[in-house]
Amino acid sequence: MSLPENLISIQQRIAAACARTGRAADSVTLLAVSKTHPPETIRAAVACGQWLFGENKIQEAKAKIPLCPGKARWQFIGHLQSNKVRDAVELFELIQGVDSLAIAQEISKRAEQAAKTMPILIEVNVAGEASKYGYAPERLRAELKELNALPRIEIQGLMAIPPFTPVPEKARPYFQKLRELKVECETVLGATLPHLSMGMSGDFEVAIEEGATLVRIGTALFGERLSSLRRPAEAN
Ligand SMILES: *Cc1c(COP(=O)(O)O)cnc(C)c1O
Repeated sequence: MSLPENLISIQQRIAAACARTGRAADSVTLLAVSKTHPPETIRAAVACGQWLFGENKIQEAKAKIPLCPGKARWQFIGHLQSNKVRDAVELFELIQGVDSLAIAQEISKRAEQAAKTMPILIEVNVAGEASKYGYAPERLRAELKELNALPRIEIQGLMAIPPFTPVPEKARPYFQKLRELKVECETVLGATLPHLSMGMSGDFEVAIEEGATLVRIGTALFGERLSSLRRPAEAN
């Protein structure tokens, strides 16, 4: 299918998942994950009305964003290193994947220097996977107030990347866990957190049923990423 067809199909699937659970269709925002894709692809998506994009590498984003339409908006969805925070604060309207007090402190410091307040989402390692970044729920409970006290960040919610499974239903308990943790955080902070960033190409409908407000979709929209295709030499 073409990009316009993929986009319409995903929007319809989002709307259907919302309808099934009695949610308003506009309560879910599609974040188009454009990592590895060139500016022409982003331009084509913007022409179809898709404005929000996600990138996971600062270097790639720094080269790409200036070549894309000015009305495209950008969120960072990768693992952030402290020496890249200054660029991230400049390039992105929201930083997902904040996974330590140290990185949050650095974001707050750099945001202050840039005379802004940076919206962030805290990443949670919902399955306790050793290979994944993200806060263990326990550590988040312990550090949440300190995170929230940082002057130039604004915690807008939580994000998670559950273990990969070809069976979307298997991700449901992790989505539920993230939603419950958000409620817990809201109680501690005495404030509503607007966002739950969860759900990717393979499981976004289940994520929406469990309360996702931001779904991060790459492959289902843009097709297979070049970097994840096997080269001919490896094909057998
Ligand atoms: C690449 C990526 C996605 C998109 O994954 P698809 O399966 O291609 O939809 C979503 N979230 C994060 C954090 C990613 O790095």
